[in-house]
Amino acid sequence: MEVQVDPKAEEFTRTQHKLLIDGEWVEAASGKTFETINPATEEILGEVAHGEEEDVTRAVRAARKAFADDAPWRKMTPSERGRLIYQISELIEEHADELATLEALDNGKSFNVAKAADVALAADLFRYMAGWATKIEGETIPISSPAAPGEYLAFTLKEPVGVVGQIIPWNFPLLMAAWKLGPVLATGCTVVLKPAEQTPLSALRLGELMMEAGLPDGVVNIVTGMGDAGAAIAAHEDVDKVAFTGSTEVGKMIAQAAGKTNLKKVTLELGGKSPNVVFKDADMSVAIPGAAHGIFFNHGQCCNAGSRLYIQREAYDEVLEGVAERAKSIKVGSGLDSEATMGPLISEEQFEKVLGYVEEGQQEGAEAYVGGGRVGDRGYFVEPTILTNTSPDMSVEREEIFGPVVAAVPFDEPEDVIAPANETHYGLAAGVFTRDINKAYRTAKRLRAGTVWINCYHVFDAALPFGGYKESGWGREMGHHVLENYLETKAVCAQLQ
Ligand code: NAP
Ligand code: MG
Repeated sequence: MEVQVDPKAEEFTRTQHKLLIDGEWVEAASGKTFETINPATEEILGEVAHGEEEDVTRAVRAARKAFADDAPWRKMTPSERGRLIYQISELIEEHADELATLEALDNGKSFNVAKAADVALAADLFRYMAGWATKIEGETIPISSPAAPGEYLAFTLKEPVGVVGQIIPWNFPLLMAAWKLGPVLATGCTVVLKPAEQTPLSALRLGELMMEAGLPDGVVNIVTGMGDAGAAIAAHEDVDKVAFTGSTEVGKMIAQAAGKTNLKKVTLELGGKSPNVVFKDADMSVAIPGAAHGIFFNHGQCCNAGSRLYIQREAYDEVLEGVAERAKSIKVGSGLDSEATMGPLISEEQFEKVLGYVEEGQQEGAEAYVGGGRVGDRGYFVEPTILTNTSPDMSVEREEIFGPVVAAVPFDEPEDVIAPANETHYGLAAGVFTRDINKAYRTAKRLRAGTVWINCYHVFDAALPFGGYKESGWGREMGHHVLENYLETKAVCAQLQ
């Protein structure tokens, strides 16, 4: 059954999409545009302004002006700022159908999933951050310096870092915008946001909603682009901090660009190759759906996807068979098909890349226990795939595939799984399935990852920090931890007379 397309979303896709700079919707300086595609049909969905370096500079200038001491944004009280952020969450909920439709069309994900997960979590994130605006506090510090005797009053001030550049990915377009913009607003920074070229629409609609909520001009600027807008943000001399979510490869380029220019602060949320461990004593009615969900949710296009499934040997056949049954029962189809739970991959590039990995794995001796191929002949649909007979030297066990492809690997003793699970340059997430609390805790403690889920997977909460060890990134998103990414600490020390 087809989901009824929200008429407002359809109308929005047809408008000429511009850049949001200084509160105005403007064309790119060059007048150029690019097209965004519906990955389920490969048809053009809309035209978007093609922002380049000059547009980034215009946007940074607007963000700098909005950050001036006497600008309206800086004069708002934390409580007023909190109320405004809250209003954004209300508007997201009010427009839930429209935003979920935009995600289904532009990204390809299921409308129902987008509404229940992406949109709901985005609204919740802003609501959570609204509360933080009034709770950003410094501390008083007793001074007893042997080199400076005297009586002092010393305290810290937490101040917004300034003009922020943010580059977000296409796998959760609206939600990633929320993760990034929520803390920017809570801390009182201003921002230039660059959505992914594949999925610009929901962020642009969010921009409209933010202006409707009463955000002062220039606080949030949105520059859509492809090819050089991201690099222009990373290298800009007047950007104080850059936050990026995407591949480890581009993350390293951003860190380098910051190092070569003004040493702007950098936080990165990058790739993963997360281990999901099922012990033989696990409740299989939880572990099997958990393992399937861990890899197949969002078509495997999750930085934290449980893409290496380690199964204790005695339970290997049962878990493999159970996950395979689930894989086979997934209905792959358009995001507007209400029965489909898995949509297309985002682009032809990703489609080729994912199928290329599967082929390479098979050439090296891996077997596709289920799946391994394309679905249909139109749209970037790939079958949910389980690979067996893989080994740690194969790219399918080492590299981020970013598609619905999992490597199932047996292990013998609980001790045996820790080393291979940690044998990766990534460290974003991990899963552990067992009924034994001791084993669960000991394993969680030894896994080198920013998140460990026990008897569940993909559980996200606005209050729960998320981010990577090792090459999975720098810093944390969400929770109060993310606020630090956008704050400077000023120590004020006064000698009492
Ligand atoms: P990507 O290459 O990591 O990132 C593309 C984004 O980075 C675009 O917005 C691009 O903007 C910007 N960019 C490119 N070069 C830049 C530079 N030198 N400095 C600053 N920004 C730069 O992502 P992708 O090509 O879409 O996907 C490739 C792989 O990334 C996937 O297969 C997956 O493994 C991974 N990925 C991870 C996540 C995640 O959530 N961690 C999400 C998506 C993808 P401009 O084109 O304007 O420069
Ligand atoms: Mg698109």
